[in-house]
Parts: sequence; structure tokens; C-alpha cells
Amino acid sequence: MVVAIALEATPVPQATPSVAETLISSAQESHGAFTLLTDLVDTVGSRLSGSDGAAAGVAWGVQHLSGLGLEVSKESVLVPVWVRGLEQAEVVAGKGRRAHPLALTALGGSPGTRRGGLEADVVEVDSLAELQERAPSVRGRIVFFNHGMAVPQDYRRFGQLRTKGPAAAAKLGAVAALVRSLATASMRSPHTGQTDFKPGEVAIPAAAISVEDAELLHRLLATGPVRVHLALGCRILPDARSSNVVADLRGREHPDEIVLLGAHLDSWDLAVGAQDDGAGVALVVEAARLLAALPERPRRTVRFVLFMNEENGLRGAKTYAIDHASELPHHVAAMELDAGAGRPLGVALKAGAGAQALLETWLPPLVKLGAGSFLEEDAQGADLSPMAAAQVPFASVVQDTTHYFDIHHSAADTLDKVDLDAFSRTSAAVAWLTYALADSESVLPRPPPPVPAGTSSAR
Ligand code: ZN
Ligand code: ZN
Repeated sequence: MVVAIALEATPVPQATPSVAETLISSAQESHGAFTLLTDLVDTVGSRLSGSDGAAAGVAWGVQHLSGLGLEVSKESVLVPVWVRGLEQAEVVAGKGRRAHPLALTALGGSPGTRRGGLEADVVEVDSLAELQERAPSVRGRIVFFNHGMAVPQDYRRFGQLRTKGPAAAAKLGAVAALVRSLATASMRSPHTGQTDFKPGEVAIPAAAISVEDAELLHRLLATGPVRVHLALGCRILPDARSSNVVADLRGREHPDEIVLLGAHLDSWDLAVGAQDDGAGVALVVEAARLLAALPERPRRTVRFVLFMNEENGLRGAKTYAIDHASELPHHVAAMELDAGAGRPLGVALKAGAGAQALLETWLPPLVKLGAGSFLEEDAQGADLSPMAAAQVPFASVVQDTTHYFDIHHSAADTLDKVDLDAFSRTSAAVAWLTYALADSESVLPRPPPPVPAGTSSAR
């Protein structure tokens, strides 16, 4: 009884919420990232490099990062400009066969066909090795790259058929290339993406066909020769000026040490890029908003970067690494968000020995978000790859990508596929992990120098 009276007499003061509670509850209760994403996709729309949409995206980024007490700037980037045009193809009618229209879309970097299109027999291969084996039968033909992508991890396995296949076919005398869409689901919507023709080398028209049409071609080829007519109106225009958007929240103790949080502002043109990479952009801007609103800044500077041209050139990331080369030794961590809007699964690092032990005490707040442990994979990001040579430690909030490649690079990458609660959970995890990296007493040990094997890419 005495205790009860004492409690009534002296009410317990409201505890000041910890920074973790503040960041995590704000992200989850306000759904701020989802609100930002909605605004980006509904007011700006698609954002292919060099387009009006990309310019509007830059203005959107500047507008939303301004007014938070950050130092915001636009940094010039020269970007390639590729524009889509007419895209049409069909299996040509022949003896005992009716014509079949093909659902397809040009690959970024592809030249167009001549007016009226081209027509040729199709040869099917399922790997770059098989292309070389069948080299004598490729000249004058359309090479059809087929594969069996079924799960998200297959994107890395089969991605080179899209990025490298058309150029390899061109070298062997092929007149065009059709690539089965890199997709884990299909409602007959083709999935675009970049294909790489080196400057000065011969380039041929290249397009992605829907999974269903790839299956059709495969069946028809089993019965005899297949002839396809293809017309593409895409074009490459001169390079244009665009920008990365960079915003610094200056650190209170070590302002010269930088924790970078980035995503890419550009998207493909078939849809609004809600998940690739509008989601990442919204997560970065929301993290900026949440961290800037804290009563005390983290020890180190947090730099929020919206990169331009990840999809078809990586020029923004390459330009950033060149322009900030002298600062890279002081980049103590970098994190990129470019894996959609799925829920957080855990934390990954690419750093030196002892990094996990150093960051471990910062993980408990992530447990209730479902992301409170380290995953046995390397943190990475296409826009981070040019910083690898400077041995910048990378971190990731690893996300669930089970359905990411259902819609990736297709006309279906729209807002309705984003789950509000999963996305807000990721937003909370990102804000907290960024704060942890910027406020921990010591910095992550740097990783060993990378093996010189080119830059990674998750385009
Ligand atoms: Zn992306
Ligand atoms: Zn992409």
C-alpha cells in the first residue's frame, strides 16, 4: 500500500525516447517514405537519363532535400541520351503457319532498324558459350537468347545475355538480337534494360521479348525454321548535361568523415520506376528528413546522394567517384538502396575484419523490424562500385526481393505493387543503420583492395 501511494504521489516522468525509438517510430507511423514515393511517381513520372522527366526528378530531389538544414547541391554529369520509338515484331506467316505478333521492347543502347524494319531467320542459343559454338549459323540471322530465369538470384546468372549477348552476336554477323525478358513472372510484359555496345564496334537492333513469346519462339523453332520481322525506331542522341543531387548533414564531431547514403534518380521509361529506383530515392530523402529532425546531429557527416544515370551508363556514380576522389579516403561507409520496396531482412557489410563486431551493438533496435542480424553476403550497389578501388566500406539493409523481378524494368513498375508496411519498415531500418554508422565511436575497418575484375552492376 505504501508503494502504491508513493507512486501516485510522484508520477514517473516520461522517459526521453532514445534516438532509435524516435527514428523507428517516426518512420513507421508517418509512412513518410511512401508519401515521398507517391509524390515522386505521380508528379514526376518516368526519369530516363536526358529526358524531361529526369530533369524534373533532379528538381524534385533538390526541392525535397532543401529546407532541412542540409547543404544541397547539384553536381554536373554528362549522360547518354537514348530514346525509344516504334517497336514492332512478328513471326512471319509461312507454310502451315499463321503470323504471330511478338510482345517486345527495345533494349537501352540499341540502334533502330532501317525504315520498314528487317526480316531474317531466327537462331536460338541459351548461353554466350553456345553462341560461339553456333557461330557459323549466326551470320545474317536474328539471334534469340533464351534462358530459364525463375528466381531473383538468376538475374546475375542470366543478366549477361542481355548486357553482352547482342554485341557478341553482332561480332558474328547477326542482324538483330532478341533476349528473353529477365523476369520472375510475366503477364506478357517485356522487361527492358541496358545492352552494352562498345564505342566503335558494330551495333545491331536488340530487344527484349516477353517470357510468353520466348516460349512461343522456342516451340516453333522445335518444328522448323522461324522467320521474324522486326522494326525498332529507337535512337541515340548526343550526350546531355544532367546532375547528381548531393546533400550533406554536417557531423557534430567529425564533419570531414562521410557516411554516404545513395539511390538512383533515373529510371527506365516504360513506367514510373516506383521500385527501380523511386523506392530507393524516397528512402534516402526520408532518412535525410528523419536524421535532420533529431535534436542532435550524428558525430559524422551523412551525405545523401541521388545518382543520375545508373540504368544506362553509370555516369553519375563514375563522375561522383572522380569529382570526390580526394574525399574517398574519408568516406567511412557507403550504402545504396536499389532493390525495390520489400521488407528488411538483415544487414550486410563489405568491410575489413572485425566490422561486424564493431557494429553489433547497434543491431538490437532492428530486431523488431525483422532485420536484427548480419547476413552472410557482401554489401554492394552499382552506384557504389566506382568507390570500391578506394576501399570504402559498404553496408546494406538487405531487402526481400521475392517479387522485385516480377515487375523490374517493365511497364508494371508502378506504385500499387509497393506494400506500405514493408516499405515503412525498411525506411525505419535504413534511418537507424545510417545513424549507427554516423554516430558509432569508431569507424568500420576498410576492406582489402578489390580484385581488378571490372565494376559490379545490378542494373
Ligand atoms: Zn536500379
Ligand atoms: Zn534498373
